[in-house]
Amino acid sequence: SSVGFGERTMDLKEVFIAVKTTKVFHKSRLQLLLDTWISRVKDQTYIFTDEEDEELRKKMGLHVITTNCSSEHSRQALSCKMAVEYNTFLDSRFNWFCHVDDDNYLNPHALVKTLSTYATVQDVYIGKPSLNRPIEASEPLPNNKTRSVYFWFATGGAGFCIQRQLALKMAPWASGEKFLSTSDLIRLPDDCTVGYIIESKLGVRLIHSPLFHSHLENLQLISKLEMKNQVTLSYGVFENKQNIIELKGVFTVEDDPSRFRSVHCLLYPDTPWCPKNYVL
Ligand code: UDP
Ligand code: MN
Repeated sequence: SSVGFGERTMDLKEVFIAVKTTKVFHKSRLQLLLDTWISRVKDQTYIFTDEEDEELRKKMGLHVITTNCSSEHSRQALSCKMAVEYNTFLDSRFNWFCHVDDDNYLNPHALVKTLSTYATVQDVYIGKPSLNRPIEASEPLPNNKTRSVYFWFATGGAGFCIQRQLALKMAPWASGEKFLSTSDLIRLPDDCTVGYIIESKLGVRLIHSPLFHSHLENLQLISKLEMKNQVTLSYGVFENKQNIIELKGVFTVEDDPSRFRSVHCLLYPDTPWCPKNYVL
């Protein structure tokens, strides 16, 4: 899966994929990812969770990172996990840092194709905003004063990627324990904190991509013809309704509620549990 583009060829081997999960989702969410897309990109995928799980360890070995972060949905706990993802990436030799949630399907070929487009561009931060405007944060100043800052951020639930060069520049606000203090300073979640560091501190702009998807958008709007080109997909609740992509597949919505198994068979029809001769 290497794509030639411009002066440089980029390969999936250059990409570090961090999957954020938590103990209660190991069976209900993560297993589905292990059965589908993760099985195709095991060498670059690292699972970040909060509790040791013998079964998961057997399957993924050193690619499971058990953080010492608490297993809450609090801002601190989630920023703690993002900090471990970021620091683990910095310690690695990969060239791109990509983050996804455990309710994301990641299409490795579409990812490589998209990142290849930017292989010769500097300081790439790419993903999909969940808001249609920049977010406002108040940045504390001396003498109890604050100032408003506005910046775009890629929503963590749609996945995002950062080039190593840019990730290195984030270190003064993100390395070691600093990511947590930065997130505390602006009192915003982990994905917003990434946007704050990159846009407000480093002056680099988020590349808005229509190919990343979270369940905070209507997933039914993704065209069937374009399904194979999407970098990430998701499933979940949106405006109090179940939100899934529309894909008639061999699996019924009952057998495959997320539609991820159906997508996977579309992309990898040679998978043993996919029906033979499957066409959309
Ligand atoms: N998550 C976590 N700890 C928690 C709850 C959630 O690490 O206590 C992770 C979860 O595994 C997922 C992400 O945070 O990767 C987002 O969680 P979820 O999809 O439940 O919530 P959303 O923010 O999408 O509504
Ligand atoms: Mn979610």
